[in-house]
Amino acid sequence: MRKDFLSYNPPSIGEAERSAVLETLQTPWVSTGPKTKAFEAELQAYLQAPAVVALNSCTAGLHVALLALGVGPGDEVIVPAMTFCATANVVEHVGARPVLVDVCPDSLTLSPEAVEAAITPRTKVLLPVHYAGHPVQLDELDSLAARHGLVILEDAAHAIATRYKGRLVGSRSNLTAFSFYATKNLTTVEGGCLTGDPSLVEKARIIGHHGMNRDAWKRFDRSGSWYYEVVLPGFKYNMTDVQAAIGLVQLQRLPSFQQRRREVVGRYEQAFRNLGALELPVELPWAESSWHLYVVRLRKEALRIDRNAFIEELKARNIGTSVHYLPVHMHPFYRDRYGYRPEDCPVAADAFDRMLSLPLHPGLCDEDVDDIVEAVTEVVHHHRR
Ligand SMILES: *Cc1c(COP(=O)(O)O)cnc(C)c1O
Repeated sequence: MRKDFLSYNPPSIGEAERSAVLETLQTPWVSTGPKTKAFEAELQAYLQAPAVVALNSCTAGLHVALLALGVGPGDEVIVPAMTFCATANVVEHVGARPVLVDVCPDSLTLSPEAVEAAITPRTKVLLPVHYAGHPVQLDELDSLAARHGLVILEDAAHAIATRYKGRLVGSRSNLTAFSFYATKNLTTVEGGCLTGDPSLVEKARIIGHHGMNRDAWKRFDRSGSWYYEVVLPGFKYNMTDVQAAIGLVQLQRLPSFQQRRREVVGRYEQAFRNLGALELPVELPWAESSWHLYVVRLRKEALRIDRNAFIEELKARNIGTSVHYLPVHMHPFYRDRYGYRPEDCPVAADAFDRMLSLPLHPGLCDEDVDDIVEAVTEVVHHHRR
């Protein structure tokens, strides 16, 4: 058995990131400045995005995106039940209603059939999530959006390096929000960005920076001017150069991060394929996952213990795991406010009941993966029905 506890998801931050931070702290710019601009340019080139604004979180990106799209009271936004709470919270922030709908049984991403059934005359936006890094069915959602006059806003918090039918998520004109939170595939500790149509992204940039008109961040620089105007009461969502300095290094390392994630996934697949008790995550033929998470579902008919006990058994073997997520419609706020019952989104509720996330990050060495495989296999064998 493993001697030390394997924590679920430590960030992959190294010497290069640490020296980039120290170097930035010695410049006259520590908040939004040249490093942030450079990070935006590098992100735009990597993602092949029409435009990019760097922000202090993905939540901020989703919030300013909804505001830039003019979503407000009386509007409905369709959100998958299987996501992190922020995807729905931002809809509440703008005074609109998040309509929580079910996900596909295989990828656990937003179900186009469930979306179609939930569309009303008040629906304005579809807010799909590339859950665990697996892309949503964008073509199907596009045609629903076109037919009903809706816009798509993508939650790509898990999806840097995700491809849909060969094309990178974030390269389209849909507004798309990425997260660079500490646990994500690329981190700036806290941070995020919004990509998409240049005029909408520019509007979002202004909303996220006090409502000050363009390039106001330059006002302390020689090339800038002290003069700015406030065109709306905006928010304070800008990224700092200290964060961007980390992001620039992380973006260089992203291909090797992604390669390691794939290697680990390959080892898990090999080890668990014939175990019988686990339903493994899928990568559908048209999809290239960023493999942000490795979510397995227990087959109840094959095991005598439930998910919570399974997690405890792994913890007793020094393996940290997590659960992504308690579905949004089952959180007290959403349950009580809108009267949701678990069975309103049966696929999400059932998946939650049986799911756990195994460690998946570039810092895992082969011995770590062997320890995880050994522990999981042992727990399955001990508790087989
Ligand atoms: C992490 C996450 C967010 C929020 O990202 P922040 O950068 O922490 O604001 C939003 N949606 C999903 C699906 C996430 O996993």
